Amino acid sequence: MASTKNWSRSKRMIDPQREITPQQVADNYAEVLADVAEACRRADRDANDVTVVGVSKYVDTATTAMLVRAGCRDLGENRPQMLWKKADSGEIDSDVQWHLIGHLQRNKANRLLRRDVLIHSVDSRRVLDAIVEASADKPRPTRVMLELNVSGDLSKTGMEPSLIESILLTECEHPSPGVEIVGLMAMAGWGTDDAQSRRQFSRVREFRDLMQQRLGMALPELSMGMSGDFSSAIAEGATMVRIGSRLFS
Ligand SMILES: *Cc1c(COP(=O)(O)O)cnc(C)c1O
Repeated sequence: MASTKNWSRSKRMIDPQREITPQQVADNYAEVLADVAEACRRADRDANDVTVVGVSKYVDTATTAMLVRAGCRDLGENRPQMLWKKADSGEIDSDVQWHLIGHLQRNKANRLLRRDVLIHSVDSRRVLDAIVEASADKPRPTRVMLELNVSGDLSKTGMEPSLIESILLTECEHPSPGVEIVGLMAMAGWGTDDAQSRRQFSRVREFRDLMQQRLGMALPELSMGMSGDFSSAIAEGATMVRIGSRLFS
């Protein structure tokens, strides 16, 4: 646990000049999978219930492709432009699942959704509406998560619980065609220690449980946990962990 703490606290930067080898990426990925499996074991959960989303925002397309060759089938980007650039490069298997984990500008929704993208970071009603519009002609609904601001940290994105509740209520009464709300996403606040981030993840799960109960709506996915805090997120029920720096340094 002591070593994981340093990951989030040091906010270590990835040096883009430093070459990382395919072997290092593969070793990092294997270590992360082992740590995820261990966290699942401690939490008495099945490791198959937690998806590791490899966050490739720090690295170029060639390095992202190394991670895919190491076996990672889920890639996360925080900028839509970077996601479509990599997805359309021809260098990355076309059957990986892409995840958008950062803010979506509404004018980019159409272009982004030419491919199947799971959007974790819906942070307003207007963004959801733009996704609904861009999903109109799609054969399958676009899966999205609503981003909860759990830390109360103003520097963090995400919606207040009351706003999420009102969006879910509206979706329950008048479901938007073309989108499926599959769960919630959250980030622990900056500078939180392990105990604080775990309490925040716990609050996300409790809020999700409350919404399911109040609205009779299934919200199976919880996207929470990054390089520094994924073990406690898994202990609190995360089904997707978003891991970047540990894979590429
Ligand atoms: C960058 C990023 C991550 C990955 O963070 P690491 O600490 O590098 O693992 C996860 N989630 C979001 C929303 C991010 O922007």
